[in-house]
Amino acid sequence: MEETLSCKETEKQIPMFLNKTLSENETLALIEHIKNCKSCKEELTIQYMVSVGLNNLDEIIDLNVDKELEKRKKEALRSLYKKDIIERGYLGIFFVGVTIFCLAALLIIL
Ligand SMILES: [Zn+2]
Repeated sequence: MEETLSCKETEKQIPMFLNKTLSENETLALIEHIKNCKSCKEELTIQYMVSVGLNNLDEIIDLNVDKELEKRKKEALRSLYKKDIIERGYLGIFFVGVTIFCLAALLIIL
């Protein structure tokens, strides 16, 4: 699931990252790229400042991008983890259903 983004792709995704419209995997890939790419981090910092500045004019503005990135990474991971559990749950129910069906079919045949 390791994705490497180009700077061009990252730049395109920064507004979506700030709007929280990227998927969890896209968010994680973007954060990973920004950690290792100075120019993209600068771009994100500028856009983040602008968006936070516009949305929170009356609030105390916390412009710690690293903190925000950490937070977003945790959120994405938590949300992925939840989805994983739900999928496994469905899969478990599905297998139990199939097993019961097979047993019932066997009983009927025998
Ligand atoms: Zn880059």
